[in-house]
Formats: sequence, structure tokens, C-alpha cells
Amino acid sequence: MNISSKPDSFQKLELLDGANPYEPAGDSPQTESSQAPTTRRRQSLPCVTHVATPGGSKPILKAMLTTACEKNCHYCPFRAGRSSTRRVTFQSDEMARTFDTMQSAGAADGIFLSSGIIKGGLATQDKLIDTIEIIRRRYHYQGYVHVKIMPGADYEQVRRAMLLADRVSINLEGPTQERLDALAPKKNFDADLLERLRWTEQIRREYLAATGRRSRASATTQFVVGAVGDTDLELLALSARLYGQLGIQRAYYSAFSPVLDTPFENLPTVSKQRERRLYQGSFLLRDYGWDVEDMPFGSDGNLRLDTDPKRAWADEYLRNAPLDVMRASPQELLRIPGIGPRAVEAIVQARQHGSLRELSHLRALGIRAPEQAAPYILLSGHRPASQLSLFDE
Ligand code: SF4
Repeated sequence: MNISSKPDSFQKLELLDGANPYEPAGDSPQTESSQAPTTRRRQSLPCVTHVATPGGSKPILKAMLTTACEKNCHYCPFRAGRSSTRRVTFQSDEMARTFDTMQSAGAADGIFLSSGIIKGGLATQDKLIDTIEIIRRRYHYQGYVHVKIMPGADYEQVRRAMLLADRVSINLEGPTQERLDALAPKKNFDADLLERLRWTEQIRREYLAATGRRSRASATTQFVVGAVGDTDLELLALSARLYGQLGIQRAYYSAFSPVLDTPFENLPTVSKQRERRLYQGSFLLRDYGWDVEDMPFGSDGNLRLDTDPKRAWADEYLRNAPLDVMRASPQELLRIPGIGPRAVEAIVQARQHGSLRELSHLRALGIRAPEQAAPYILLSGHRPASQLSLFDE
């Protein structure tokens, strides 16, 4: 790849590299890294991050059209007036061409495109869409595209973005207007942000009605966690609504980390363990049929940090009332630590054909660590013996 033939674009990417810690792009945000663990290509390029996508792990160009911004979100390195931010701006053509060069050279396969806001959300969204349109139409790129929806974008822009992209994201940042005011005083929670997430669901329905096919574009959102007193209860209650009512694919949680020369520079860093517990809770809501009322919040509205929420719930409700694996309903089985949706399917199938009497029988069904389940189940009427417990995740 002839990097030196496009020094300006490449240098801009270097200035952007790693600049935005709050923008997860794929399905495994906690493993996103600019270092490819095992790749044939050892070269590490700026803004290329290995991201889990629906098509597998890919080197994604994670870039912004501009790091200039007229908003003043208190946590953000790109906020208006922050003099230590070196502003970088790409034209749509330039960004699309840069991506095409990297993609053709095998250095990137997929793009996550965001932007600071200049001249309002409408104008900025147009530039983002223009860029993706050039990538799709001029360069005929058919791979993974994730594009941000700006606060203030209109319905038609969201629709166009969803026709072009595999994923769109609208960052709510805080779980309520009050929390958002404290994080990002120039944004309106409902009118600027939540309404656009509602549109993504409406557009998906319209697409299905018009074509008989599901839109390929999923929608995600993201929260900045822990800077302004937000609780896990607030974050997960809203996440549950978003999963249940608006069909969003994924809520991301980014533990707050202070940035120098911002109003939040002296706030404490929020632990990654909190972020981890939020993801665990979020998956219980999305994939395990839990309601937010089931979640074992403490009196402060937060999940315990020392154990995952499923285990905390099971310790409270199943330790003294273990479930008989041969009789429990699928919904009950899903409550058992170490048992996920696939394991439930395997158990339900297997018990039609015979008895599950030992932990080894569960292991034979593909359950990797049945010892995790042992304190909460009965096999042949008895709690199975097991060695505990090194399994807190
Ligand atoms: S809108 Fe807020 S979060 Fe986004 S780039 Fe501007 S200041 Fe940062």
C-alpha cells in the first residue's frame, strides 16, 4: 500500500487515531483493539480497529469526518472551545477515497464513520451520507458500513443511511433528559435522540412491508457510564425498553474516563468492571428473557461489581431452592448460571430421550462448565457434587 502517495489523508488519520474512546463499533466492544492479535498483516494502521461484525472479525477503519464540533458535551475531547484538540476535517470524497485505498490494499474491510457537528445535524448528516454513498456507488464496496446518525438528522436522512449501511447508531449518552443535560447540555434527549431511534424501527417496518424482506441495517445506541450519577437501574431500564419496543440490536456502555481540558477532567475514572456488569445485565434482558425487575440491583440502584448479575440472582433465589434439570421449564433453566439459550435447547432435547443424572451428562451436551450450575440444580433428586468456585465472570 502506497501510504506516501496520500500523505495528507494518512496524517489526518494518524491525528484521529484512538482519539475517541467512547465509540464502540462492533459486537464485542470490550475486545476492540487497534492491535490485531493474530493477523497475516503485522502492519498496524491508524484508525484501524479489529471489530466483531455480523460477518466475523474485521479490520475496520474507525474514523470521523471532522473533529471540529459546535456542541460542548462535557466529557468529549472534541467539544467546542477545547484548545488542545487539533481539528481534522475530511471532505466526503477524500474520506471515501482513503477508505477505498485502504480497502483495496487489504488494510481495512469495513468502515465506522462518525463526525463532530458543524452547521447543525442536518448538514453534518448529509456529509456522512454522501461519504457512504460514494463508498457504495463509486467504489462499489459491499462490505460492512456503520454510520452515526447525528442529533437533528431528519427522517429521510435516517432512511437513506439505513438503505446504505449495515448498522446505524444514535448515541443517547445518558438514560434520561436530566442525565443528558449534565453530560451534553446542548442535546435534547427525546427530540434529538430517542425520536431517531424510534424512526429506525419505523423504517425497518416500512421496508419489510414494501419489500417483504428485513432491512439489513440494525440500530445501536451507546451510553457514557458513571460521570453524572446515572445508575445501572436507569441504564438497564431504558435498555430494556429499547430492546423490547424499538428493536435495537445493541446498547453499548462506555465507562467514563476523564479527558484533560474538559469540564469533567477531575472526575474519577469509572471501573471497567461496572461496564462489564452492565453488558451482562443487558444480555440477560436481550437474550435471556429477563425483565428489569428481575435484576438484582442494590439499594443504590447499581449491580454488584463482585459477581455477575445472573449468579447474584441465583444465589438469592436458587441456592436454597435448586431447580430439577429434568423438570424445570426452559425459562427456569435460563435462570441457572452457566446455562445459556443453546444449552437450554440441548437440555430440552436430551431429556426427551433419557435422564440427565450427572454433571458429565451436561458437559456432553456442550455445556462447557456445568460446575457453575451445580449449586443451583438437582440431578436425580440431588445437588451434584462439584468443586467451587472459580467461575465468577
Ligand atoms: S456532539 Fe458532543 S460528543 Fe459528539 S463530537 Fe461534539 S462534543 Fe463530542
